[in-house]
Amino acid sequence: MKLILKLSLLILLMASCTNPVKKVKPKKTIPVNNHSFSNIEEVHTTHLHLDLNVDFTNKKLSGVARHKMDNQGANQAVFDIKGLKIQKVTTGNSENEKVRKFEIGPGVENTILGQPLIVNIDKNTAYVNIYYETTEESEALDWLDSALTSSKNKPFLYTQGQAILTRTWIPIQDAPSNRITYSADLKVPSDLMAVMSASNPKEKNHEGNYHFDMKQPIPCYLIALAVGDLVYGDLGNHTGVYCEPELLEASMYEFEDLPNMMEAAEKLYGKYAWDQYDLLILPYSFPFGGMENPRLTFANPTLLAGDRSLVSVVAHELAHSWSGNLVTNETWNDFWLNEGFTVYFENRIMEEIIGKNGADNLALIEFFELQEELERIENSGHPEDAHLFLDLDGRDPDDGMTDVAYVKGAFFLKTLEANVGRDKMDVFLMSYFDHFKFTSVNTDKFVSYLEKELLQKHKIDFNYKEWIYQPGIPESCINLKSDGFENVKEMAITFANGETDESWDKVPFNKRSNYSVQEWLTFIRHLPSDINVEKMAKLDKHLAFSEWTNAEIQFEWFMKSISSNYTNAYPYLESFLEKIGRRKFILPLYEALYKNVNTRKKALEWFKDYNKNYHAVSSNSIAEALEL
Ligand SMILES: [Zn+2]
Repeated sequence: MKLILKLSLLILLMASCTNPVKKVKPKKTIPVNNHSFSNIEEVHTTHLHLDLNVDFTNKKLSGVARHKMDNQGANQAVFDIKGLKIQKVTTGNSENEKVRKFEIGPGVENTILGQPLIVNIDKNTAYVNIYYETTEESEALDWLDSALTSSKNKPFLYTQGQAILTRTWIPIQDAPSNRITYSADLKVPSDLMAVMSASNPKEKNHEGNYHFDMKQPIPCYLIALAVGDLVYGDLGNHTGVYCEPELLEASMYEFEDLPNMMEAAEKLYGKYAWDQYDLLILPYSFPFGGMENPRLTFANPTLLAGDRSLVSVVAHELAHSWSGNLVTNETWNDFWLNEGFTVYFENRIMEEIIGKNGADNLALIEFFELQEELERIENSGHPEDAHLFLDLDGRDPDDGMTDVAYVKGAFFLKTLEANVGRDKMDVFLMSYFDHFKFTSVNTDKFVSYLEKELLQKHKIDFNYKEWIYQPGIPESCINLKSDGFENVKEMAITFANGETDESWDKVPFNKRSNYSVQEWLTFIRHLPSDINVEKMAKLDKHLAFSEWTNAEIQFEWFMKSISSNYTNAYPYLESFLEKIGRRKFILPLYEALYKNVNTRKKALEWFKDYNKNYHAVSSNSIAEALEL
């Protein structure tokens, strides 16, 4: 907020020296945002058309972003840019363009926010066209050489816009409170296919020309593009999967339940609003498990475990079609409204697919991760990050992407559900999504709606304030239990403490199938961090945790290997870090390596070697953790 105030003063000053037009008092329409320079209150984009060439040789996008704007009489339009080369700005529609003066600045580029692009306009200007190209500094873009793809013979490009990276590939008013429709004309190499978070082709176009339309208004962090050697597989019920040809069979098997998930989701909270729901399987550098780009979720290939054990990530991204995409956090301080609701909803979908027991186990695994995260936050420089409602002023909004927003948010809703009853909860959530559809919501608006439509209506006393505005987990939190987890937890402790073969009897060596993936995860987690290496070696010899091609298991096992100095696992850990770019896994692994004096050097060496295989979202976080 401070930044915006300073900037508006500067704009005012600049306006007074360069443009004598009297400033029209703006009609407040869209809330300002603490991570955007834009003046969306005065003039904001309603429709964006992109006309871009995708150049793999020089690794750049170039062309024009045409903004159709709702102008309340402003004489300047301010956009966010970061790492972009602006060539020319015009106003007017494409047949009648007039070159306009623009200014970039003030000062040097802010490392988090970039810079404002300030364009002089007239009070009735309705179109602003920005001619530009991306640069090496365009952090949203991941240009992958063919060696980093599954086919290893065609290059790949994808974008990641959330939270504030869309400004690094499109000059735009990058605030989640503004919604726009968009269209695009793209030219790509003729042997590749382009897809976007919009209406998509099902086959390659041999000239490499593609047209896209997104007719439902979205916040601009959801504009997304991918270009690669892609094929499409139809899964039924308006769902399907895009991937490289060699992954098609495995993807169709892994995500076979997608139509059922869609049915379960619609039954819970109303009709799916985006017509088509497809998945796009990206290369391994993708920094997230999934990204909920509308109509086309971007998914991490680590989800292809071969046993459908990790598909809850897909339920999560599908749930975002309601929470996040349909009803959007107004600022990044309200991020929990996107993610807490989504984790809650994801678990309800999983309950339909695998039953209550299985869904509870998934929630318990997440709860364990939350407890570890809260411990880390408590000892960090920002203990207030343990509140659901955040204050990220002057900070990177990525700092708010912790388990607090996701899991504490979900357990808040689970606890609320336990207090009001599932029937009332579902009526409330259905009406919440309907009431706020295609708009943004902040924490205050949510609280008012909660009080009026649920608590007062049914005369229920529930302390939501301790969840939203206080750190930690309130005592009122529901208590989930799993006999299976208790059993493996005890097994882990007995195994770690026991001195004789008899005390290990309970571990089913050579019988991985005795337990589920989630139970094995719990088992590894409950081994002490300084467990002796002979015991680690015994487990690895019989159960082959180092080699298990399930990224969740490998991650837990490598964390334990680092803390216990079990060096036999390091070659596998190195291959993992070379191949996989998902931040959830590699950031804690690098942190653990760096913290341990025996492996600190390895952390720096490996990061130097493999950094090029990661998206900027991951490599920036790791560089910070390694104090680079
Ligand atoms: Zn999410």
